[in-house]
Amino acid sequence: MSANIYKENDILVFKKNHPCGGNSWKVLRVGVDYKLECTTCKRIIIVPRFDLNKMVKKTKE
Ligand SMILES: [Zn+2]
Repeated sequence: MSANIYKENDILVFKKNHPCGGNSWKVLRVGVDYKLECTTCKRIIIVPRFDLNKMVKKTKE
């Protein structure tokens, strides 16, 4: 429904905190699935774009 709205290296702030306490994620790869790295614990997750749009609160410059 929408094009890729986030770019590689964008920092995304999630509504919910990661179990490590952080809530900022760096975009490593974009596409149908997004690859994100937690900026606090460096864990990497894969999130479908459709779900990501609901999880992100804002982007950080
Ligand atoms: Zn984390």
